Amino acid sequence: MSDQVEQMTMFDEAPDFRLTSRYRSGVFRTRAELAEGLRQEGRDEIYHVLSFGGGTQSSHLLEQHFRGEIHYDYIVFSDTGAEPEFIHEQVKWWQRRQQEIGNKTPFIITRHSNMSGGLEEMLMRWILTDYQRFQMPVYCSSLDRKTGEIKPAGMMPRQCTVDFKIIPVKQAVRRAVLQKHGLKSNQKMPANVGFIIDIGFSYDEIRRINTDQSPQFQYIRLAYPLVEENLTTADSIHFLEVNQFPTRRSRCYLCPFNCDGDRDIGMDWDEIIEAEPLSFLKACWFDAELRRVQLGGTKIMNSIPYLHYSRRPLAEVYSIEYERLKDTYASKLKEWVNKWQEVIEEKWMKEIAA
Ligand code: SF4
Repeated sequence: MSDQVEQMTMFDEAPDFRLTSRYRSGVFRTRAELAEGLRQEGRDEIYHVLSFGGGTQSSHLLEQHFRGEIHYDYIVFSDTGAEPEFIHEQVKWWQRRQQEIGNKTPFIITRHSNMSGGLEEMLMRWILTDYQRFQMPVYCSSLDRKTGEIKPAGMMPRQCTVDFKIIPVKQAVRRAVLQKHGLKSNQKMPANVGFIIDIGFSYDEIRRINTDQSPQFQYIRLAYPLVEENLTTADSIHFLEVNQFPTRRSRCYLCPFNCDGDRDIGMDWDEIIEAEPLSFLKACWFDAELRRVQLGGTKIMNSIPYLHYSRRPLAEVYSIEYERLKDTYASKLKEWVNKWQEVIEEKWMKEIAA
């Protein structure tokens, strides 16, 4: 079934994940099927993990866990270093709820293993050093050198979700279970241990599912329980609203998937501008710096990067807001840039000099 046909089928008929091409062709299996597969490999000590993002869908799963509807041995939030403060507030809100209801499941907060400053650190490293690995899904344009014409040229891969969200979760639970077995993090996982990590993709996001097998660790599988429940993003938001739980969508403040009001998916630049003007100005700063550095010709990135889907500078798309805010936050922005310059010099320039 082509993606287009699948999309039509998905919304014409009652949702049923078992009818989708991704399930039928074995791109993913259910939690029960994954557990059975692990047991057949002799892995009968299976840990169920929630990769918690602090937003709507994984909060829905967390509440299902609190209600005893889904079992987790670990809840793990990986901090990308660029979530808006309101997402950190939501994470704290859920931690308080966990305490209030007396749920004792370990709730781990983790980060990227060698870039603990997360996406901000990766971007600053790319801007300030010869680091080449660009890990964000920016919109690209290409320049036709003969005609001078600039044309849209796709998007960079969404590598940040894997590198700053999913891998740190895997590493954190791996460490926790090795420790439980009295082993160090560089030792081998016992042969009877397996993991199923739940990711909060919804039925309407089924095309984001690429695999149920961790490429890094043979004994880790990935499951998509909201898809198995045939629940959409709107269903999760409705559930949270009805229960008067927090409903902000999780993402990074500079995420290129942020949109405008007319493409409303609940993750928009307006929310960032209103709630965190300084973060908006940081995003504008990164947006301009990425193009300045790319045009300098020292990077392997051939295309011209933009954070906004219109492939225009963010400060130009929101020129009224930008002009209104830039002077008020100028010193704070400068302080932030200076702080990062010091960190990058201390941590990564040494590596270059060595
Ligand atoms: S929210 Fe956006 S920028 Fe942040 S990790 Fe996900 S895709 Fe990357």
